[in-house]
Amino acid sequence: MTWRKITTVLKCPQQLVRNFSLHKLPEEHLMLQKTCRNFVEAELKPLAAQLDKEHKFPAEQIKKMGELGLLSINVSEKWGGSEQDTLAMAVAVEEIARGCGGTGTITSVHNCLYVNLIDRCGTDEQKEKFLRPFTKGTLGCFALSEPDAGSDVGSMATTAVKDGNTYVLNGTKSWVTSGTEGKAAVVFATVDKKLKHRGITGFLIPMPTPGLSLGKKEDKLGIRASSTCNLILEDVRVPIENVLGNPGDGFKMAMMQLDKARVGIAAQALGIAQSALEVAMEYSGQRKAFGQPICNLQAVKLRLGEMALRLEAARLLVWRAAVLCDEPQRSTKESSMAKVAASEAATFVSHSAIQILGGMGYVTDMPAERHYRDARITEIYAGVNDVQRQLIADAILKDIQ
Ligand SMILES: Cc1cc2nc3c(=O)[nH]c(=O)nc-3n(C[C@H](O)[C@H](O)[C@H](O)COP(=O)(O)OP(=O)(O)OC[C@H]3O[C@@H](n4cnc5c(N)ncnc54)[C@H](O)[C@@H]3O)c2cc1C
Repeated sequence: MTWRKITTVLKCPQQLVRNFSLHKLPEEHLMLQKTCRNFVEAELKPLAAQLDKEHKFPAEQIKKMGELGLLSINVSEKWGGSEQDTLAMAVAVEEIARGCGGTGTITSVHNCLYVNLIDRCGTDEQKEKFLRPFTKGTLGCFALSEPDAGSDVGSMATTAVKDGNTYVLNGTKSWVTSGTEGKAAVVFATVDKKLKHRGITGFLIPMPTPGLSLGKKEDKLGIRASSTCNLILEDVRVPIENVLGNPGDGFKMAMMQLDKARVGIAAQALGIAQSALEVAMEYSGQRKAFGQPICNLQAVKLRLGEMALRLEAARLLVWRAAVLCDEPQRSTKESSMAKVAASEAATFVSHSAIQILGGMGYVTDMPAERHYRDARITEIYAGVNDVQRQLIADAILKDIQ
């Protein structure tokens, strides 16, 4: 076994950030990358096609990733985490997604939207119950979206009504990643709909819990190793000590967390794109047409060059956004840029890979069609790219107004 626990690989995250330069990862991050890559080659890549075909959750691999510290990358050691920087998270998620896009989703969502959120905003009592047990392979969920409130989160309809020492929650949360396997969720509901964004509050809910049921598992285009379902809340009683942050802080808390989550999704997109590029390079070196490998044909060469260019440009934006994520000030613009660039690079690269493989790109004998299906979601979740472009524009326009 050549892979090692993340904390034995990365020693001093703060110093690493200071030493970061854009053209090359710090030595310790390169070691982490190697550790993850070895794990992926041995444990995940050979299974990815089957997980996709059978819509199967990678239970054993998630358990091993927990043992390696890959499911609590940005959680303090005090609570059982690996206590590494966001760049380490991005490096690890890219490698995992390179092996399996769906496992990349599970890794990214759990790290960025569950454990790190609680580490950042929870009380010690909440961390003991909802964080420590979730650092080693037990998954948590993030339930913000609703059937009628996706991009427009402020219009959420799930209500939380105070009744003595509890809140009573009613409503439906949609598209919850790992909803089927998760053992707890951060659920957002409004304590007063008239307050719009300022009424939104985060609640920590163990799963299962009375009144909480799961909708059907969604039948998705891609990332099929990861489950997605609705959470239906019918008079779910949540004690007031399970309010995350203060009542009314939920919207701000979720938006801040999404700055990090967009780096996680961008890293997932890089991994899918990298894998697609590797498949295209290998195939084009072996496949012959007109008496030579097709990678010698100018049209194929130009396509490969463009794929590598877009991927590497996106990776630089992702690394920059990851480093800025650990600074005290918010870096929404940089996270949004990374997410748009990496997701669109993934769509482009996986689309181009199919073209290079010709007919073989269109069948499940080769992974190219899976990469294409897996890539598509990265333009949609953690905030659709149209909204990200608006956030970028808002940020640059603020400078001249
Ligand atoms: C597989 C999967 C997993 C997911 N996991 C989670 C999860 O774990 N937790 C969670 O809370 N959510 C999750 N989501 C939800 C996801 O974040 C939303 O789907 C996403 O934010 C978009 O919301 P929507 O689907 O309601 O689209 P809508 O908001 O209806 O948007 C549809 C389209 O309208 C346009 N549009 C909307 N608003 C604007 C605007 N302001 N400017 C320009 N164009 C706009 C865009 O073209 C957009 O693509 C997941 C979704 C999927 C599919």
